[in-house]
Amino acid sequence: MASNGYRNGILKGSVKVEKLSPSSNPKPSSIKSKTTSTQVSSVRRSSPASLGGVGSGVKGDSGVPGRVRVAVRLRPRNAEEQVADADFADCVELQPELKRLKLRKNNWDSDTYEFDEVLTEFASQKRVYEVVAKPVVESVLDGYNGTVMAYGQTGTGKTFTLGRLGEEDTAARGIMVRSMEDILADICPETDSISVSYLQLYMETIQDLLDPTNDNIPIVEDPKTGDVSVPGATLVEIRNQHSFVELLRLGEAHRFAANTKLNTESSRSHAILMVHVKRCVKGSEAALSIENGNGSHMSKNFRPPLVRKGKLVVVDLAGSERIDKSGSEGHTLEEAKSINLSLSALGKCINALAENSPHVPVRDSKLTRLLRDSFGGTARTSLIVTIGPSPRHRGETTSTIMFGQRAMKVENMVKIKEEFDYKSLSRRLDIQLDKLIAEHERQQKAFQDELERITIEAQNHISEVERNYAEALENEQSRYQKDYKESIKKLEEQWMLNQQKLNSDRARVEVKQEPLDMGLAVAELQKSLQNEINLRKAAEEEVNSLKSQLVQWRRSEAVGNAEVLKLRKLLEDEEHQKEKLEEEIAGLRSQLLQLSFEADETRRSLDRGGSGKILTGLDSLMSQVRNSQIKDSGNGQKAPIVNLFEQVGLQKILSLLESEDSDVRIHAVKVVANLAAEEANQEKIVQAGGLTSLLMLLKSSEDEMIRRVAAGAIANLAMNETNQELIMDQGGISLLSMTAADADDPQTLRMVAGAIANLCGNDKLQITLRGEGGIKALLGMVRCGHPDVLAQVARGIANFAKCESRASSQGTKAGRSLLIDDGALPWIVQNANNEASPIRRHIELALCHLAQHGHDQWGCPMGAGTHIPRLLARGHKDSCKSDFNFKSHIPS
Ligand code: ADP
Ligand code: MG
Repeated sequence: MASNGYRNGILKGSVKVEKLSPSSNPKPSSIKSKTTSTQVSSVRRSSPASLGGVGSGVKGDSGVPGRVRVAVRLRPRNAEEQVADADFADCVELQPELKRLKLRKNNWDSDTYEFDEVLTEFASQKRVYEVVAKPVVESVLDGYNGTVMAYGQTGTGKTFTLGRLGEEDTAARGIMVRSMEDILADICPETDSISVSYLQLYMETIQDLLDPTNDNIPIVEDPKTGDVSVPGATLVEIRNQHSFVELLRLGEAHRFAANTKLNTESSRSHAILMVHVKRCVKGSEAALSIENGNGSHMSKNFRPPLVRKGKLVVVDLAGSERIDKSGSEGHTLEEAKSINLSLSALGKCINALAENSPHVPVRDSKLTRLLRDSFGGTARTSLIVTIGPSPRHRGETTSTIMFGQRAMKVENMVKIKEEFDYKSLSRRLDIQLDKLIAEHERQQKAFQDELERITIEAQNHISEVERNYAEALENEQSRYQKDYKESIKKLEEQWMLNQQKLNSDRARVEVKQEPLDMGLAVAELQKSLQNEINLRKAAEEEVNSLKSQLVQWRRSEAVGNAEVLKLRKLLEDEEHQKEKLEEEIAGLRSQLLQLSFEADETRRSLDRGGSGKILTGLDSLMSQVRNSQIKDSGNGQKAPIVNLFEQVGLQKILSLLESEDSDVRIHAVKVVANLAAEEANQEKIVQAGGLTSLLMLLKSSEDEMIRRVAAGAIANLAMNETNQELIMDQGGISLLSMTAADADDPQTLRMVAGAIANLCGNDKLQITLRGEGGIKALLGMVRCGHPDVLAQVARGIANFAKCESRASSQGTKAGRSLLIDDGALPWIVQNANNEASPIRRHIELALCHLAQHGHDQWGCPMGAGTHIPRLLARGHKDSCKSDFNFKSHIPS
């Protein structure tokens, strides 16, 4: 209940005055008297007759000493005692004015005990309340814990003193009711609150008298402060006296019911009323309190409200008489122990505290735990011990008095229960914070608006200043320019004047030199100005001329490019011309050779006695050739050659075909070819062995040109039916086929194809021609793709087809077309729509003949079957009758 420490140096409370003689003046010890008087003087509201106590001025954490006050109350004799003890004196004699009690041992001996208050059997309930409980109640209202406890034998008036409701007799109201009346009268209902719990402790079990189902409530101790509480107990808020009285009545009823149920007597249980008073400390009182220690560092705004939480505990103890351990009351020994446990533990604790013992067995019972603060703690405690007058209970009365005497030695350290209400501070701060946030937002917005306004203003100002500055600058400039012009003008005038003056001076007086500084300076300035102007002009001209040069250069570049192209073209033309001329030169050279040859021959024959007629003829031929060559290089060759042939003789020309000189050979074959173009010459050429010679050339000549011209000559000869047979007999078709296979030059191929095409037109030669590969050779030449060659191929095919169709219609030949057998049809079909009209016409003709040859002929590859009827439908039947011959003209 109390640590050892706080007792050190503390003044002892009451001193037991044992065995005071009745005659002696029972003066309290000086120490005790002093203490009591000090404490009584500090009580604010209690009457001077009260137990006294520590005033409300008590501050600080450590508290101040406050001894447990003990009063003794004697119950009047009850009816039974008045009868039974009629012949006996009371066992006690009270001296209330001396606050002493005399306990009679026998008729002649007694012990005297001093108490804080001695209340006789006549003491009113009001007086008992005022001296025992009121100081405690006032302390509770000031924020202290307080305890009022009644101890005594059953039936001595504990409940009478504490718990009487006094409904039928107001004067009978007990301490509980009166305490609540005082509390309710003192508090402020708006800010303060009262709440109540009502408990019963029996056999170490705490029961809730306000809620009987709550019958085993635990005691909770705060590990930090050691404060004890019963949070499990029902806590009822009290608003008025009536509700409190109802609550007490309800508690009493529950106590009665519980005891009936448990088969116990109420005298065996402890009743504990707890009144919690929470008060808000206001104004100067709070400020004073804060100044004295609590939160002096806090500013006014952040100061939490100060609250005082006082707790009044009123304890109606079980009867103090000992239970008969034999179990006469129907209890087992164990039960008896348990029933007495709390009360005996309380006695032990009080003994320990009274004797300043190092160990106080607070934890031995629930009662001592609950009353930890009441004895040896921080509470203001008043104990009333009740006794009866009957000498028959002297033993119990004595032990009660001794308990009271020991309790008087217990020193508490009363301490105000004051704390800051941080929850309400937090609520208040939250509200303030929200207000501040809103205000801050508003201010921020206003600040931004202001900032924007200032920015715009500043920008306007800047632009105005800039405008002004520009204007001023312009004005200044124009002013300076004006000044400058004026001063120049003045200088010029001055200069003129000076000049005039100078001239006149010079004229008048022959003064050699009178330099006028000003004039000279101006002249110099003008000169340099002029120089500058000239230089600038020159530079500008330079730039302009460079620009025009650039334009010109670009133009001439384009012209040059065009010129280059033109020149290139010209060069090509020239080269072409040159080639042509070279050819002509070669032709003329061969002619010259022939002529010189002939001239030799003529000379020789003249030598042998020939006429001079030929010479004349040759001369005229020569001149004719010459003239014609000058007049017309294109057509002026044929006539001289024909004449040549007549005059020089075919044999001579043919012999030149075998000349060593290749140029001679070429010209000879060209001459022969041209001769062969004339039908009249053909027979003579063949008779003179020309055909054989030509075929030989075709066979043996390495020169492509020779072979080409020879083929041309053969083609010309092949126009004649008799010659055709001769050509065939001499293996001409094979030679032509060979040439066709070897040659690449389109002109050569044209000649060869022309020759074969002519041969194709001969009915008798069909089989041989085809047999010797003529058709294949003809078709082979289409590879060259030259339209002239293709035209000859087409003509040959048409000729062949014509003969085949003729043979078929005459019945001399039947069966399949050799042309088709040799694979001519695909090409025919392919070129049926050839762009070149000669090709197209010959192909149409061929198709016409093939169609006449008979429909059974069609092998119909490549879809030809669809083409032929369509082509036939075009009506080319007229052309079927036409015959074509190839006549080649070979330029010399
Ligand atoms: P306890 O609670 O100590 O057992 P009670 O309070 O029940 O005793 O009192 C027993 C009886 O004595 C009751 O009938 C009660 O009215 C009566 N009584 C007690 N004290 C007084 C008193 N001071 N004046 C008149 N009657 C009293
Ligand atoms: Mg009682």
